[in-house]
Amino acid sequence: MSGDSAISVRGLRKAYGQTVAVADVDLSVSRGEVFALLGPNGAGKTTTVEILEGFRRRDAGEVSVLGVDPAAGGRAWRARVGIVLQGTGEFDELTVGEVVRHFARFYPDPDDPAAVIARVGLADKVRARTHSLSGGQKRRLDVALGIIGRPELLFLDEPTTGFDPQARRDFWGLIRDLASGGTTILLTTHYLEEAEALADRVGVIAAGRLAAVAPPRELGDRAHQPATVTWGTPDGRLRSEVTATPTALVAKLAAEAGGSEIPGLTVTRPTLEDIYLTMIGEKQ
Ligand code: ATP
Repeated sequence: MSGDSAISVRGLRKAYGQTVAVADVDLSVSRGEVFALLGPNGAGKTTTVEILEGFRRRDAGEVSVLGVDPAAGGRAWRARVGIVLQGTGEFDELTVGEVVRHFARFYPDPDDPAAVIARVGLADKVRARTHSLSGGQKRRLDVALGIIGRPELLFLDEPTTGFDPQARRDFWGLIRDLASGGTTILLTTHYLEEAEALADRVGVIAAGRLAAVAPPRELGDRAHQPATVTWGTPDGRLRSEVTATPTALVAKLAAEAGGSEIPGLTVTRPTLEDIYLTMIGEKQ
């Protein structure tokens, strides 16, 4: 069932007692794809991802990750998979350089520790003890440990929580680099703009079910949702109109303006966040 897929899931189900965390999820992620899993707290993202990582047992369903059932994945399989869990990043008295070099030894063909440390933006912290790092710097160290083994597939669970805006942009650059080098990436995030910036496709999971899977621009038929056109009138007020034909409305306003600029003109469509919130509101 794997074929060209890095991840292939059919009928995945997991319950904790009476709580059904994941109900009948089907999912396929192609090799080289960046896939973002979105969903509210408790939706079942971590459970799904941890089953794919081989850390949790499933109750039912077929799962193949890099052609292997993660429940039976051995050392060789594990070396092909990189994992960044939600927040670790602290290793007592060890320095950043020591931790990354130490983890590199677990892999058959590790990347160069110094290069990886530079890549995640910690070059000036190589001799710093990990407990002295800021929250965002610890997260970068987690990412360094996730990629030191040159994984074919990288799992990132809320990778940029605690990052400042510049660090987040830098991180996006790193993910794009990895993706263009052929690494498949599955990330969970609560930042919609992050999913939009990075993902080829997003999957929205709500109450354990995959409610939708689509490229970010197409989610919830976003491109065909009515647009809001806003413009300034000659008496200095702002007017808005929701329309399925914004081009025609703008053309009419342009004709009325007789070739001058239309003051305060904007045309907006629902953001990914708007679509997402509607979707999880409806589906929950
Ligand atoms: P978040 O965005 O908050 O990280 P999530 O989408 O990752 O949430 P999960 O951690 O997968 O959600 O949790 C899904 C459901 O399963 C929740 O109702 C949660 O309380 C429950 N759950 C998760 N782990 C366990 C566990 N070990 N024992 C019992 N219930 C659990």
